[in-house]
Amino acid sequence: MTDATPVRRRVGVMGGTFDPIHHGHLVAASEVQAWFDLDEVVFAPTGRPWQKSERDVSPPEHRYLMTVIATAANPRFTVSRVDIDREGPTYTVDTLRDLSAAMPDADLYFITGADALTDIFSWHDADGLFELAQFVGCTRPGYDMDPETIAALPSSRVTIVEIPALAISSTDCRERQRRGQPVWYLVPDGVVQYIQKHRLYPSSEPDPTPTP
Ligand code: ATP
Ligand code: MG
Repeated sequence: MTDATPVRRRVGVMGGTFDPIHHGHLVAASEVQAWFDLDEVVFAPTGRPWQKSERDVSPPEHRYLMTVIATAANPRFTVSRVDIDREGPTYTVDTLRDLSAAMPDADLYFITGADALTDIFSWHDADGLFELAQFVGCTRPGYDMDPETIAALPSSRVTIVEIPALAISSTDCRERQRRGQPVWYLVPDGVVQYIQKHRLYPSSEPDPTPTP
């Protein structure tokens, strides 16, 4: 007789603008994958991020392809188009609903940095979020989690994980590229080359990033 109980997969979801994806994102995803023994981590680049409408965000297709390039070598990392193919602003609740419908056999773990987790109560349908996934808050240099916010989170649905500190942000990568400073080793090599090829984050300098 065989055990008919279906085995549920454990799937991480790493949402982000990824403009560009950098090693802080990749280390957070890798660390949480190992911590929770996840079968897969799905990176979900946002369509139009509702929090970032004040600045121009690179076209979704560029952000999607940079995410594919950055994750290609890891057999447990995949990239989803759910958010970039959906019309309108991206809300995490929609990301989780769509992924959950596509993977009914999976328990979802939403991976988020300390800055984003602190804002969680301002997220669209914050209450519904905790029903859709376990939340994993990753420490991030420069962003201390407000103890009141942590205390208000449902402790059975949120885990805080300390990850190796990488003080890298996409904002800083964009600014460095614009100023002609190197972004090598802050983002994967293929992403540096993609940024140069497509002249993302242009500066007034003709060829800003020197090859090492
Ligand atoms: P931006 O500066 O444009 O906001 P970002 O570096 O914050 O970019 P996002 O795409 O906004 O990157 O972040 C996606 C997710 O990754 C968020 O949950 C964020 O908190 C988390 N994250 C980003 N960088 C780090 C890092 N260095 N360490 C831990 N978590 C991070
Ligand atoms: Mg951010």
